Amino acid sequence: MADISKEKLRNLPKVDQVLSRPELSVALEDHPRETVVEAVRGAVADMRKAILEGRDINVSEETAANIALYRLEKSEVRSLRRVINGTGIVLHTNLGRARLPRSVAEAVSSIAQGYSTLEYDVEKGVRGSRHDHINKLICRITGAEDAIAINNNAAATLMVLMALAHRKEVVVSRGELVEIGGAFRVPDIMKVGGTILKEVGTTNKTHLYDYERAIGENTGAVMKVHTSNYRILGFTEDVPAEQLAKLAHDNGLPMIYDLGSGLILDLQSYGLDEPTVASAFKAGADVVLFSGDKLLGGPQAGIIAGKKQYIDILKKHPLARAMRLDKMTLCALEETFRIYEDPENAKKEIPVLNMITRPADEVRTKAARFAGRLRNVGISADISIMHGIGRVGGGSAPMLNLDTWAVAIVPQKMSVDKLAESLRGWVVPIISHVQDGCLLLDMRTIADDELDVTARALIDILV
Ligand SMILES: *Cc1c(COP(=O)(O)O)cnc(C)c1O
Repeated sequence: MADISKEKLRNLPKVDQVLSRPELSVALEDHPRETVVEAVRGAVADMRKAILEGRDINVSEETAANIALYRLEKSEVRSLRRVINGTGIVLHTNLGRARLPRSVAEAVSSIAQGYSTLEYDVEKGVRGSRHDHINKLICRITGAEDAIAINNNAAATLMVLMALAHRKEVVVSRGELVEIGGAFRVPDIMKVGGTILKEVGTTNKTHLYDYERAIGENTGAVMKVHTSNYRILGFTEDVPAEQLAKLAHDNGLPMIYDLGSGLILDLQSYGLDEPTVASAFKAGADVVLFSGDKLLGGPQAGIIAGKKQYIDILKKHPLARAMRLDKMTLCALEETFRIYEDPENAKKEIPVLNMITRPADEVRTKAARFAGRLRNVGISADISIMHGIGRVGGGSAPMLNLDTWAVAIVPQKMSVDKLAESLRGWVVPIISHVQDGCLLLDMRTIADDELDVTARALIDILV
């Protein structure tokens, strides 16, 4: 080892001396002493490692104090953090799917900080039921007779199968044996739920007579699964929900409809070709399942709505207790459903619907303004706006291309990938996408009140 390195190792600062540096005085007020000592020890260890690797570092106490401060700052960073979604994918599962409306988030905050009527009837002064907060509201909005909400739609599917068709056969079309992602596949859920999957038809075509022939002594239910994250096109045929419901009823069976996305308002005029919850009931479905955080635009939850006779069985099932919602989610669900009482307002107030229904022109104007703002501050990058295709995401409406606009950035002094990495490393991480050598920030999924932070990050990284 070079003499100079040996010398530096000998001169590494002592922990006590570093602790008395003025740089650390505020930190010592803000943190327990032991935490700061740990950070300083870590800093000295970092310096030793750097010397052994032959790097040229300054071994002063001041350097150690600054490294310690950096370590303290990093240890403060939360694992689950807010990010800015510049991908143009509205329901980005990895980024937490639906953004909650502001009024919903505020209500949750209030419920979280206090005691609540979670299972308490204030009129009678006796124990109440947590299911009663939302079932009437859900019925009013969807046309169901009763409803229950649990942890998510995967749990809802499992619970419905276990409670309504245990040890029985459930008839499903081969064209609807969906994999949602992760370990959620309809055939596997059937197995776990202790039901026997009775597949009928083929991948592309299933006829009513396929179902008719499959129904027998041991059939417990007929199930339709909305192919929410894929479409089968071309020479295809499936049985409409109406006919399936009628067949089920003629045989004294329930028709279970896993809708997945949970669309409440008809958004056909925006190109969203998804069945609404109300349309599933109109078709005659007995039990309808859908997610809380897909097109409903609320918190993660699985909503099971339908005929009272079936929902009653579900409410008494042990899984209802095992998969029950907490007060924050219940509050968020109630608030979200309430917004739907005024459908036009829902399109504005619920971010998921707002982002999907916002006209492309508006997104273009927003992109042009933001691009102009960046050009005005003179950052070292070429800025333009680019037309693109956004997605609903979250396994919903796979065929819908959202006509969208992004601000396209090509930095002059760093690579595009480096810029993307720096944006991800920003105080509020900003998630972009890179395409054809451009960094794109889609203006459909970045909220107006996130533009300032986004601009500041770009200016800081690119000046
Ligand atoms: C998304 C989806 C599920 C799973 O819902 P989660 O709320 O994500 O658990 C189940 N079935 C269908 C058809 C879906 O689209």
